Amino acid sequence: MKRSILIALALIALAPPGFHAAAPVSYRVSLPEPQHHWMQVEVSFTELADGPLELRMSRSSPGRYAIHDFAKNVYDVHATGPDGRELTITRQDPSGWTVGEHGASVTVRYKIYGDRVDGTYLAVDATHVHMNMPAAIMWARGLDDRAATISFLPPDAAVAGRGWTIATQLHPGSTPLDFTAPNLQYLIDSPLEFGPVAVRQFSVDRHTFRFAAHHTGTDDELNRYMKDVERIVREEGAVYGEFPSYEPGAYTFLADYLPYSDEDGMEHRNSTVMTSSSTIRSDRTRLLETVAHEFFHCWNVERIRPRDLEPFDLDRENMSDELWLAEGFTQYYGPLVLQRAGLVDLDSTRQTLTTLVETIVNSPGRTVRSAVEMSRMAPFTDGGRPIDRTNWSNTVISYYPMGGAIALALDLTLRERSDGRITLDDFMRAMWRTHGKPGGSREGYVDRPYTMSDAEARLAEVSGDRAFARDFFSRYIQGREAADYTRLLRNAGLLVRRRDGGRPWLGDVRMDSRTDGARVSAQAPANSPVYDAGIDEGDTITQVAGQRTSSAEEVNTAINRRRPGDRISITYVDRAGVTKTASVTLVENPHVEIVAVEAAGGSLTPAQRTFREHWLGSQVR
Ligand SMILES: [Zn+2]
Repeated sequence: MKRSILIALALIALAPPGFHAAAPVSYRVSLPEPQHHWMQVEVSFTELADGPLELRMSRSSPGRYAIHDFAKNVYDVHATGPDGRELTITRQDPSGWTVGEHGASVTVRYKIYGDRVDGTYLAVDATHVHMNMPAAIMWARGLDDRAATISFLPPDAAVAGRGWTIATQLHPGSTPLDFTAPNLQYLIDSPLEFGPVAVRQFSVDRHTFRFAAHHTGTDDELNRYMKDVERIVREEGAVYGEFPSYEPGAYTFLADYLPYSDEDGMEHRNSTVMTSSSTIRSDRTRLLETVAHEFFHCWNVERIRPRDLEPFDLDRENMSDELWLAEGFTQYYGPLVLQRAGLVDLDSTRQTLTTLVETIVNSPGRTVRSAVEMSRMAPFTDGGRPIDRTNWSNTVISYYPMGGAIALALDLTLRERSDGRITLDDFMRAMWRTHGKPGGSREGYVDRPYTMSDAEARLAEVSGDRAFARDFFSRYIQGREAADYTRLLRNAGLLVRRRDGGRPWLGDVRMDSRTDGARVSAQAPANSPVYDAGIDEGDTITQVAGQRTSSAEEVNTAINRRRPGDRISITYVDRAGVTKTASVTLVENPHVEIVAVEAAGGSLTPAQRTFREHWLGSQVR
């Protein structure tokens, strides 16, 4: 970051009055056969200096932390000079095309295939073009600071129908199918939907919000849905006390609720992409949860940005130590905001909180990796599945629920120790004021991204207690401890209790029924009796406490006749065919659930009622 600030300052210092900005890179996209899921892209580079022109396809995409290698779908690549003469292209690596000899301008043409509707990839078909920029556009190394223009030609109406329009956070150009971006970072961060989109608009505190939906529902459904989206926007605005200034003049929600969409949500600076095969009619609450999560990101991660992610490196995976905050705290706020906005009830919230607490209390991974180390796993876990086996079920917890559980602990702890005067909202506001609000000297950049010690310093400021901040970070974020959720939640009249109290437990073992026994079909959970007995994936359980078993049900029935603390024998055949017998001590089922004290037959104290209302009630004034 230091380096790019220096370069920016140097450019400002060098620029004389009347400084000529380098010519923009211009893209032209056409759709000769959308039904076959490819599009034609033409890119013109002008005012080029001597030396090789290094053309690149991105290997990664902002908001995704693994490698996606978008070059894999690019083909039929040609480069020509101003006279139309074909220029020689060489390949230095799988994501690059190099034009060695060229004049001042080069035009590159390529075809690109894409058929996945989500937040990461490209989807082209007769119903729309759904475009995540890194998956679609080629760029040239060293020209990051040049502006870009991008224009679209409509598809043949006989194939695709009429009435396609474009929704995007890009700046509008001279026609409805022309757009501009101030630089490559902004361009690459700007997804786009080109199709028969329905657009709704509302404003909150003089900020404009556009919702562009490509969906199968009715206008009336969309109109009613907008009321809920607006409540979410207001409630999240109340967390921070203000909205960012959205550079194109509006924030844009891009929703593809289509039968052929994948489930996804992806944040961007002034927009979000939300895709689902569900409809507003069938699954409104779940879709709203994605709205709440993604919109929260317009502060947290887009502007309150970890230094590790700024600027985003398109050539490699981007590792961050702070995804427990960037994603995890966002994961906490999404459902909390739905509750505050009155869009879900306490029963829904108690289930969400159960998931968070279960994750941190009962996942074996917590004892081997901290939240920081879990964040560093994103380059491995945020992409496709590896083909070799991993022991992640025992060693990795997603930084989403793990960070969500940390946010819950921090919120409740701050409230408890300040008698409700200081909350996690104050911490988020402090992060916003110091790291997000100052913005960037160039659009699409963040000048004051934060580090781990910055986040700790903000907590020290907000709590007025440096030792508390240090202790919290060292135990729950850099360390591997779990907070005392039972005590913390009791403040709000929520009880953490055993879901199957008094019941015996062998471990959450996945088993397939076989003619010769119950075969363990996934890794045995560490710190469970079955793991301690030495039984693991590929072993077949044939007898439990002297009783023959051939299915998971029979194993469970045999276990359920016993009590926690009972010692039983298990006979199994290992993967090499050797019969073995292990002695196992059953424990009490450790799974927990959270219930409201009034639902458990008790009653809320006035203090619990106040605590709960301040926490879960609307913050909109
Ligand atoms: Zn997220």
